[in-house]
Amino acid sequence: MRTVNAYAALERKGELKPFQYELPEIGTEQVDIKVDYCGICHSDLSMVNNEWGNAKYPLVPGHEIVGEVVAAGEGVKNVKVGDKVGLGWYAGSCMHCHECMDGSHHLCATSEQTIVGRHGGFADYVRGHWSWAIPLPDKIDLSKAGPLLCGGITVFNPIILSGVKPTDKVGVIGIGGLGHMALKFLHHWGCEVVAFSSNPDKKAQILEMGANKVVNSRDSDELKEMKGQLNFILNTTNVTLNWNAYLSCLAPKGKFHNVGAVLEPMAISAFSLMGGEKSIGASPLGSPALTKTMLDFCVRHNIYPTVEAFEMSQVNDAMEHLEKGNARYRIVLKN
Ligand code: NAP
Ligand code: ZN
Repeated sequence: MRTVNAYAALERKGELKPFQYELPEIGTEQVDIKVDYCGICHSDLSMVNNEWGNAKYPLVPGHEIVGEVVAAGEGVKNVKVGDKVGLGWYAGSCMHCHECMDGSHHLCATSEQTIVGRHGGFADYVRGHWSWAIPLPDKIDLSKAGPLLCGGITVFNPIILSGVKPTDKVGVIGIGGLGHMALKFLHHWGCEVVAFSSNPDKKAQILEMGANKVVNSRDSDELKEMKGQLNFILNTTNVTLNWNAYLSCLAPKGKFHNVGAVLEPMAISAFSLMGGEKSIGASPLGSPALTKTMLDFCVRHNIYPTVEAFEMSQVNDAMEHLEKGNARYRIVLKN
């Protein structure tokens, strides 16, 4: 038994309140992690507000966790007590379905999601299956690593999936938590990077992060100037934009990849895809193996999110800061 001191929403859109719960005896394949840092993803906000209809209260958000293994079941294979690990959106996979056997644990139909029907990382401890307790590289900056475990891998995976080449010209829509990490990855990949942002105040910082050009994401005339130019576009926003105008920005054979949790159906004209053999895809996070590869890539190239630090006890101020669109560019809570 372990008593966990957490912050939970007790109802939809509720303020986060101190909340204690008990973890039963640890399972043979589970690890307990003492939380050092936890990033705040827009998905935490969407869950508290039950935008996706799957929230259960009390709800402890937090799925960009960095901490230390303090207990490990006897069947745990990859980490031991004392190791620093990261835990993201997933906290367990079955380990025997086709997808798990194929190395795509993030596509496991019975995966556990860290804050869905179980409690997450706005807490002093969190529990997970060993497969998703990702060992952190020695030289990583722990204070900035948390956001890589959800936002980071979510935008890194599409670069691999879509076969983005260093010679490609690419676009990122929405320069928030996910989008700013995508800009940094694609810049280091070698691409020419166009940022689509609705906020002119971010322009100078976006260019500093490695974008070559900034376009107003809501201005159809500015989008027209990009017609036929981009090999790959990554959408990280959750709002409805002029999708057909973005498909027009793709070069022939270009790919549009969606990771934003857009709530409304996305109206796409078949004709905007057919002419140029264009395609659309989407994905959730990425596999544990790719997450580890991404972390090594980040250490090698010194790629980190731009973070704002809040104490865990200031979690409500931090959530409000994010909800108002003021985060620059990812908030990390510190225990
Ligand atoms: P975030 O930090 O709030 O950033 C979202 C960005 O979208 C904003 O910074 C803003 O960028 C843009 N945006 C917001 N409202 C807009 C509007 N009305 N018009 C145009 N642009 C707007 O959120 P995040 O943490 O990056 O998460 C982004 C989305 O990804 C969320 O829906 C989240 O749930 C989802 N998500 C998905 C996965 C996955 O596995 N697929 C994983 C994590 C998160 P500008 O100011 O530059 O316009
Ligand atoms: Zn997330």
